[in-house]
Amino acid sequence: MSDCKFNTKRVHAGYRPEEHHYASSVPIYQTAAFGLTNTEVAEQIVTGQVTGRFDYSRDGNPTVEVLEQRIAALEGGVGAVAVASGMSAISFTILNVAECGGRIIAPVNIYGSTLDEFRNFFPNYGINFDLVDNINDLEHVKSLIQPDTKAIYVESVANPSTEIADLEALANIAHQAGIPLIVDNTFPTPYLLRPFEFGADIVIYSSTKGINGHGNTLSGLVVDHGQFDWTTGKFPQFTSEEFILGDEERQIHESFASKFGHQAFIKRIRMKYVRLLGSVLSPIDAYFVLLGLETISERLDKEVASAAKIAEFLNHNQYVNQVFYSGLNKTDPLVKKYFSKGVGSILSFELAGDETRVAKLIKNIKIFSYLPNIGDAKSLIVNPARTTHREVPAEFRRRNGLNPQVIRLSIGLEDVTDLIADLDQALTKAFEN
Ligand code: PLP
Repeated sequence: MSDCKFNTKRVHAGYRPEEHHYASSVPIYQTAAFGLTNTEVAEQIVTGQVTGRFDYSRDGNPTVEVLEQRIAALEGGVGAVAVASGMSAISFTILNVAECGGRIIAPVNIYGSTLDEFRNFFPNYGINFDLVDNINDLEHVKSLIQPDTKAIYVESVANPSTEIADLEALANIAHQAGIPLIVDNTFPTPYLLRPFEFGADIVIYSSTKGINGHGNTLSGLVVDHGQFDWTTGKFPQFTSEEFILGDEERQIHESFASKFGHQAFIKRIRMKYVRLLGSVLSPIDAYFVLLGLETISERLDKEVASAAKIAEFLNHNQYVNQVFYSGLNKTDPLVKKYFSKGVGSILSFELAGDETRVAKLIKNIKIFSYLPNIGDAKSLIVNPARTTHREVPAEFRRRNGLNPQVIRLSIGLEDVTDLIADLDQALTKAFEN
């Protein structure tokens, strides 16, 4: 399977039907625990000496494992961990990289809950953030690196502005400083962009969105490139002895780095964070994500094509001040470099009127659903400043042009002419007196 291309892997990778009664669809192992056979086998299972056996679904589950292996194969990573939400994936990654305290550089124009967590939650645990207005201002990013800086964190395509992060340049800066580049790649999905190909070290997903594609469950993924050296002394959590990895009776002492080598990061997420803090993805939710993943390419192709047409329509509409869709500028070097298949299915625009017009537009829209999600097969509309990005202070929003008149669209699989007609009539009604 490792030689196969993306479209083959998204339906096959990580699943061997012969090990599951030749079931064509990945079975849902809806069980909390698994029989241990006898005490000798139990010893092998709980110490991780055998593959294909499980003990307890918080430590691992066969359905969830197929999803983890499939996403690792699609990204080109050495391993992945599935969790209950995108926020869990972000939280566990930040904690795993900066557990002993330190600083992380990140842009301000990120998802609202992520920004809230970075500004108002992690500092309570000794992890502080240097937030920048423009993550592609490389000299500024470089100047912020201090001895205790532990990572650079970005969204590959920002929510909701769709600004593109220059991943390769940021990965170079990070690696020169001996720190990893962490990328939330939720907007593009691995179909449109695979950050490891540009040097990223850890990729995070809210697979609630385009990977699942049907808006039916929450889930998150962390994928490890396996190329970063955690043993330089900056990250003692990977090199210090761990009680659970050693053998007390035989006086064997191990760290995550000594035991798991290039899989140290992802094993530590599983064994320290998922196992101890919970936030496990349930088997049935993993099944939904796997099902959605099977059609990711066809969905994204259609949604991206429709998003581009809708961006063009809005760009020429008298009631629209500005469209935020990086895909509109075909000559942008970042679009050319990173997004040969299109920037994505999400775009935003600023209405040429006050918030009462926003309210009227949302009241009159018929096909788009007004709700705080993206990446669904159904088209969605939301006013981020009052909903998904409510946690972003007004001053930050002003600096990023995210005022209350900005509306975000997530384009689904409907006929694009119907979507444009729907927007057209709602925009007209929004500006009737
Ligand atoms: N990252 C991005 C870019 C998001 O848009 C979101 C949610 O909207 C998240 C992470 C959080 O994901 P979840 O809602 O699955 O926790």
